[in-house]
Amino acid sequence: MEAYDIVVLGGGSGSQVATAAAERGLEAAVVEPGPLGGACITRGCVPSKALIHRADVVEAVRGAEAFGIDAGVHGVDYDGITDAIHDTVYAKADNQTSSMREAANVTLCRGEGRFVDDRTIAVDPDDGSGTAEITGETVVIAVGGRPMVPPIDGLEGVGYLTSDDALFLDERPDELVIVGGGYIGAELGYFFGALGADISLVGRSERLVPREDEAVSTAVTESLADYCDVYTGYEAAEVEPADERQSGEGIVVTAEPSDDGNDGGETVELAADDLLLATGRRPNTDTLALEETGVETDDKGYVETDNRLETAVDGIWVLGDVIGQQPYKHAADYEAQVVMRNVLDDASRTVDYEAMPHAIFTEPRVASVGQTEGDLADAGREYEVATVPYDAAPLGLILEAGDGFVKALAGPDGEILGCHIVGPQAATLLHEVVVAMDGGGTVDDVAGPVHVHPALNEVVYAAFDELSSRAYSTAPDWRDVGDG
Ligand SMILES: Cc1cc2nc3c(=O)[nH]c(=O)nc-3n(C[C@H](O)[C@H](O)[C@H](O)COP(=O)(O)OP(=O)(O)OC[C@H]3O[C@@H](n4cnc5c(N)ncnc54)[C@H](O)[C@@H]3O)c2cc1C
Repeated sequence: MEAYDIVVLGGGSGSQVATAAAERGLEAAVVEPGPLGGACITRGCVPSKALIHRADVVEAVRGAEAFGIDAGVHGVDYDGITDAIHDTVYAKADNQTSSMREAANVTLCRGEGRFVDDRTIAVDPDDGSGTAEITGETVVIAVGGRPMVPPIDGLEGVGYLTSDDALFLDERPDELVIVGGGYIGAELGYFFGALGADISLVGRSERLVPREDEAVSTAVTESLADYCDVYTGYEAAEVEPADERQSGEGIVVTAEPSDDGNDGGETVELAADDLLLATGRRPNTDTLALEETGVETDDKGYVETDNRLETAVDGIWVLGDVIGQQPYKHAADYEAQVVMRNVLDDASRTVDYEAMPHAIFTEPRVASVGQTEGDLADAGREYEVATVPYDAAPLGLILEAGDGFVKALAGPDGEILGCHIVGPQAATLLHEVVVAMDGGGTVDDVAGPVHVHPALNEVVYAAFDELSSRAYSTAPDWRDVGDG
């Protein structure tokens, strides 16, 4: 049995902890059955954004006329697009594998890991070469999650897609029902809709992306209606093959009004070539045999941890989607940093998610940090709000992005409580606010520094300037022209 100083289960963000340990001269092992890099590289962030960029290109060409340019989309090489993206992301995963195999002190154990006891891991390789057992003085659980398949009547009798397969189709479906109104459903609804597919997008809540600030989720719901038939306040109750109704190939989804936000709606039947389930993700803890350890999980299977990311067992740490706190790649990387510090430097670092941003890559884009106005109202907190449209800044007006906005939320003393941006480059614009929040700054820390003119960040500047205590304002305001 091989003995390691540190064993990491999962080759996504967790592999960085193993690499850091190996660089310190510790013996480390990464247990991973699939491509290195985890969901983000081959099944998540990167391929989905590469597709969405193609949708943006199509949209830019279609929108060219508004700027006096005569252009048109004459064809889409769908297979070529998905092949190219597939090659790029798998090249990255392969390169990570080669680097790890060449690195000193770190071993890649190919296969699925499960606990035998608190310090012993059985690795089941899928090549049938037989189970091997390894031990780690420290163990890190970083096994991520996978698409959740909801209990829909008839699902076992039809084929369906999840985000794992929808990113690499050979052909664009002509008609698609997407079940799930969260960010993955919304992003894929935008992508397939922009590429000309007929999309029915079914979301259980009153609005798509319902966890966002209400102004944001309203904007996304309205804008997605340009790309999809949006059924908010509905849930998929049943699905059957279309040919059972003698109407050809494909599926028919029966969607019923949900309890959440649909009084008096009528049941609808949605026919399509394919069904895509984007109904959330579940943690990969069910195959880990955690019952052989003292590690505790909640009722959804997410690993319980203290604020230093150590589990109920000393020396077993956890990070990433399997915690269920902040299901984003950058959050998993941040948590990997906290685990590195605590395991390798004995640093007692605690996690702090207050300035944890996230983004949604629909059209328009969304980016958020901190609390929503709803959170603040529910908590009974005193706050001030400023919402400034993109066309306050001349570049926002030039881009015709007047539907976009920056919404800033602050306490009476200027403490930044949240910021929600809808519009071009939202994720990039948000970062000056993230930096200010991370440093415990106030609205003056965003409004004070000089902003490049005419850059889109002038919208952020204008929103925070409205909340600022500064005596004089020089924030641009082109709304008089935009409105006209
Ligand atoms: C379609 C889609 C789009 C996304 N877009 C974004 C985005 O734009 N921005 C963003 O920040 N996030 C995005 N995400 C989320 C992001 O991919 C995850 O938050 C991130 O990958 C989490 O990292 P992780 O290391 O916790 O888990 P993962 O990346 O899932 O890595 C876990 C690894 O553990 C392995 N594993 C599973 N079981 C075992 C086992 N028993 N033994 C050993 N290994 C095991 C898996 O094979 C996997 O490689 C997206 C996700 C999806 C699905």
